[in-house]
Amino acid sequence: MFEEAALDLGHPRKQEAASWAAEILSGKPAGWTVDRDVWQKAAEAGVQSLTLGQPTSAVEAMLTFEGIGLGAADNGLAFALASQVFAMQRAFDSVASAQQRNRWQGGLTAGELFGSFAMSEPDAGSDTSAVATTAEEQADGSWVLNGVKSWVTLGPLCDVAIVFATSDRSLGAWGLSAFLVDANADGFGRGPAREKVGLASCPFGELILEDCRVPADALLGKAGAGAAIFGRAVEAERVFLYAAQLGAMERVLDRTVERARSRQQGGTNIGSHQAVSHRIVDMKLRHEAARLLAYKAAAVHDRGDNIALPAGLAKLQAAEMAVASAVDSIRVFGASGYLAETGLGVELGDAVGGLAYSGTVDVTRNIVAGLLHLDRPLRRSDE
Ligand SMILES: Cc1cc2nc3c(=O)[nH]c(=O)nc-3n(C[C@H](O)[C@H](O)[C@H](O)COP(=O)(O)OP(=O)(O)OC[C@H]3O[C@@H](n4cnc5c(N)ncnc54)[C@H](O)[C@@H]3O)c2cc1C
Repeated sequence: MFEEAALDLGHPRKQEAASWAAEILSGKPAGWTVDRDVWQKAAEAGVQSLTLGQPTSAVEAMLTFEGIGLGAADNGLAFALASQVFAMQRAFDSVASAQQRNRWQGGLTAGELFGSFAMSEPDAGSDTSAVATTAEEQADGSWVLNGVKSWVTLGPLCDVAIVFATSDRSLGAWGLSAFLVDANADGFGRGPAREKVGLASCPFGELILEDCRVPADALLGKAGAGAAIFGRAVEAERVFLYAAQLGAMERVLDRTVERARSRQQGGTNIGSHQAVSHRIVDMKLRHEAARLLAYKAAAVHDRGDNIALPAGLAKLQAAEMAVASAVDSIRVFGASGYLAETGLGVELGDAVGGLAYSGTVDVTRNIVAGLLHLDRPLRRSDE
């Protein structure tokens, strides 16, 4: 599966997903945002079941999302779906009890429910050990949550959110627990959808917990297991959230090639100018390298091996190269690329989000550096 996916740019599964995404989004008015109708259609196409219920392989899931990114000119839908499928659902699936599955799984996979994954806070972004949202266990086993979660993808719409909160800040990461919070719970509120520079159709915003009481069975996994649940989910999310971006990079590349071949200047198509052609060759190189790294990470995941290093490398390549290629595409298009109607500014704004979500690229470099033991001096025994 890895070989077929990695070597075949036109893999049938990817093409099928691309056609589905193009069709589902056709005719959506400007300013449209993700809604329940599209969520249910995605579920009918099996998208939310990719990681829950009867999960497929990571390579297959990646092919599907690569296709959605290729076919959907709107990267917000792909990101919204990826956030639920790869972050929220994978965390849920890793530890949910039978009772929790009975309650939530059917609704999530049927596209009846929106699910969010809420770790970040106004003062706890890269530093997740600074989480200030508190969870106090009550005598009857229920919990009371207080705090604010920020930048929560699908936060303005979610029916259920995995919320990370601390029951003892002095314990740092060991004090973190994860809760499945029903959006109908007393004390659960949300801020307005925040305006972003990209991924416009995917709403995100704050979740506000004010003496929000949740039952004992809202605790996901064990008390104190929050950091482990988060770490495992984010490690994989780090690569899978970028699957759709691979498709978006391909879409931007295809448009740029077409432009280079059709735009005439000085009696020739601009693609015959070396400055332009080399720029596009770099776009091609970045895209193919990003794909290979991403499929390698997915294949390593499917083998059951540790994904930390391949996922970190794949994320860095996809996140940073998508931005570089969006800028290069605008340069090839000249002033037309700067027009809103060309849509390349939107592609750039969408790509920039990838420098921050699932941990910034700087933090990802820290992780990769740690895996290479770069902070440890070489000892005789290492030589
Ligand atoms: C589109 C989008 C969707 C998101 N969705 C979600 C979501 O669903 N759920 C959720 O919980 N969060 C979500 N986030 C938030 C995201 O996880 C955070 O933005 C990210 O963790 C960084 O936190 P911050 O924005 O507070 O930046 P900060 O942590 O304040 O970082 C600011 C700058 O300092 C750098 N920096 C900070 N610490 C270090 C360090 N130790 N080493 C090197 N550089 C450092 C960063 O790289 C960055 O350049 C989303 C973000 C975006 C953009």
